[in-house]
Amino acid sequence: MSEVSGVWADLVGQEPTVAVLRTAARAAAARLAAEAAKSAGEGAAPSQPAGRSGMTHAWLITGPPGSGRSNTARAFAAALQCERQGCGECTACRTSLAGTNPDVTLVRTEQLSLRVDEIRELVRKSAMSPVGRRWQVLVVEDADRLTEQAADALLKSLEEPADRTVWVLCAPTVEDAVPTIRSRCRLLVLRTPPTTAVAQVLQRRYAVSPDLAVFAARASQGHIGRARALATQEEVRARREQVLSVPSKLRDLAGCLTAAASLVELAAEEARAATAELDATEKAELERALGVTGSGGRGPRPRQLQAAQKELEDQQKVRAKRLQRDALDRALLDLVAFYRDVLVVALGASAELVNEELRDDIERRAHANRPELILRQIDAILACRDAIAANVAPLLAVESMTIALLEPTRR
Ligand SMILES: [Zn+2]
Repeated sequence: MSEVSGVWADLVGQEPTVAVLRTAARAAAARLAAEAAKSAGEGAAPSQPAGRSGMTHAWLITGPPGSGRSNTARAFAAALQCERQGCGECTACRTSLAGTNPDVTLVRTEQLSLRVDEIRELVRKSAMSPVGRRWQVLVVEDADRLTEQAADALLKSLEEPADRTVWVLCAPTVEDAVPTIRSRCRLLVLRTPPTTAVAQVLQRRYAVSPDLAVFAARASQGHIGRARALATQEEVRARREQVLSVPSKLRDLAGCLTAAASLVELAAEEARAATAELDATEKAELERALGVTGSGGRGPRPRQLQAAQKELEDQQKVRAKRLQRDALDRALLDLVAFYRDVLVVALGASAELVNEELRDDIERRAHANRPELILRQIDAILACRDAIAANVAPLLAVESMTIALLEPTRR
C-alpha cells in the first residue's frame, strides 16, 4: 500500500481514484507554471499542453453512499489550489476542505432537487476568473438532484468552459447523472471501502478502541459517515440495536404492527435529532438578517418576516421529510444485512457476517428456515424500500413488510 498523505489521507480505500486525481493536480500545476512562464516573456518555455495530460475541466465522481464522494471532490479542489498539490497544511488546503476558499464553491442541497436558479448562479460564477492565481473550482455534491432545467443550464458551461474553471460533480451512480452531462465529464468511480481500512481510519481519527472500530466498520458496511457515527455516538448505536431487535419481535400479527410503528418512529426520532438544532440556527439567522431584534421583538416589516419565515419552515419540512426517509432507508438496509447474514449461514457460505454480535440468533434462524423463505424475507424488505421511494405512506409499507417477515414456524 502506497503512503498517502496530505489532503488524500482520509480518502479511505480509494487508492486508484486518488492516483488519477494526483496526476491531474500535477498536470494542472504544470499548466499554470507554463502559462506563467509564457506571460513572463520566456518564449522558449515548453509549450506542451499540460492540460491534456491528465487534467480536464469537468469531472464526475460517483460511488455508493458514504464512500466519500464529497470528501474526494474537496480534496481535489484543495490539491488544485495548493502550491504543493494538496499538502493538507497550507491555508489553501485548509480553506478548500472547509468550504471557505473564495475559489472553491461547494453546492449541496438538503432539498429534493437542485433548482435552476441555483445552477444559473453557479454558471455565472464559472464564467469569471478565479480570485486567486490558480483555479476556480465548482463542486456540485448532488448532481443526481439536478432538475432537467438545471442540467440544461449547466450543460453550456461544461461545453464551453472558462479557462481556469473546473467543475466537479458528484452522484451515487453514473446513471443518476443526465446523459448529456456525464458524456462531458471524466468519470471516476469510488468503491465501497474495505472494513479493515475503515476501522483503521476510525481508530486513527477518533481514538476509539480497536473492537469498537471494527464493529462500526463492519456494521456500516463501508459507509464512512455511518461508521463514524456508530463509533462515536452512543445513541446511534442504541438506535441501530433497536432496529435489529425488530426480527425477534415478529411473533404474531400484533407484534408485526407494533414493530412497524416503532421502526417508523425511530426514523422520525433520528430526523428530529438531526434537524432540531439546524432549524433553530436557521431561524435565528433569518431573524437577524431581517433585523428582528431581541426576543419576541417585532420587526419593522412583519409581513415580509412572516413570508420569509413561512418559506424557511417549508424548506425545513422538506428537509425533515428527506432525513426521515433516509433514516428509515438506513434501518431497512440494516435489516437486509441481518437477513443476508442468516442466508449466508443457511447456505454454509464462509463470508464475514455484518452482525457478528447477533450470531446466535442468526444461526438459529438459519437452521430453522429454508433459504427460499429467507430470500423472500430479503425481498420483502427491498420491496418496502421501493414502496417508500415511490411515496407509499411509510407506516403502511413497513407494516406490510413486517407481516411478510413473519416466519411460519412462529405463527
Ligand atoms: Zn496545501
